[in-house]
Amino acid sequence: MLRSLLLPLTLVACTVHAQEDKILNLYTARHYDTDEALYANFTKATGIKVNRIEAGDEALLERVRNEGANSPADVLLIVDASRLYAADQAGLFAPVKSAVLESRIPKDLRSANGTWFAFSSRARVIVYDKTAVNAADVQRYEDLASPANKGKVCTRPGSHPYMLSLVASVIAHDGEQKAEEWAKAVVANMARPPRGGDTDQIKGVASGECGIALTNSYYYVRLMRSKKPEDRAIAGKVTLVWPNQSSWGTHMNVSGGGVLKNAPNKDAALKFLEYLASDEAQAYFANGNNEWPVVKTAVAKNPELESLGKFKADALPIAEIATRTPAAQKLVDRAGWR
Ligand code: FE
Repeated sequence: MLRSLLLPLTLVACTVHAQEDKILNLYTARHYDTDEALYANFTKATGIKVNRIEAGDEALLERVRNEGANSPADVLLIVDASRLYAADQAGLFAPVKSAVLESRIPKDLRSANGTWFAFSSRARVIVYDKTAVNAADVQRYEDLASPANKGKVCTRPGSHPYMLSLVASVIAHDGEQKAEEWAKAVVANMARPPRGGDTDQIKGVASGECGIALTNSYYYVRLMRSKKPEDRAIAGKVTLVWPNQSSWGTHMNVSGGGVLKNAPNKDAALKFLEYLASDEAQAYFANGNNEWPVVKTAVAKNPELESLGKFKADALPIAEIATRTPAAQKLVDRAGWR
């Protein structure tokens, strides 16, 4: 009698102990309100506790590199394919085999060797001031170099990852020589020296300092959805263009991540990535930053984002664009896109 009572108790104690040991150390460049629910749901489903380190992309990359073999980090989540590519080239990721990830994340949104996977996507769009610029002059990225747009263009510095990925896609589609001529002409068309983030470019157009600017789609939607009337007014003053609809399509980029090579909790890390590819997590993940889910069956209800309408996206695999980002860096340096 005593024996049969004790046995279940021992089993229960073991289970509790094992659950306490299940942790995941996540290094993430994301920090959105909806992410709290994302992590809580993962813990509820798996019993794995998520320890988070949140910092900027470059700071996280440097931290993982510096920690080396002693790094406690299991998963790294960063933005832009150029950074994912650089992390992969630096040997930071462990290749993983996962039927879930391979079936749910489209092939053109992950690395060929299973080192990193996209979990959300964004478009790099043109915004312009329709009182100062003709719509016909801003339909393609190539148009930013047009003589008609002299003194009107505003961008981030050319070596920012968002710009490098766009330049890399121009290289992929138009060839390196044309891309360099384009970059030089864009620099010659600047309204002001490149500075600030994408929101600053949108604000520059709204204030009239810039006629045309480039921004990732979510910065525009963030202003549209802002609780501050002045932010919504800024979004209302600029016109959005999906570039290159009659040619190769709008440049798309991603946020994504992978299991780190020195991850102490590799099983938990893989479980977390597979969870991020679930319909439920995809909706949280995409909506947190007004992006699109990458998994086809996932539905992220975001009326403001949907209000921008459908468009033709560049079909080139994101990993292929990323391989050209080192060439893009050299090109923007030669073009003086500082
Ligand atoms: Fe961003």
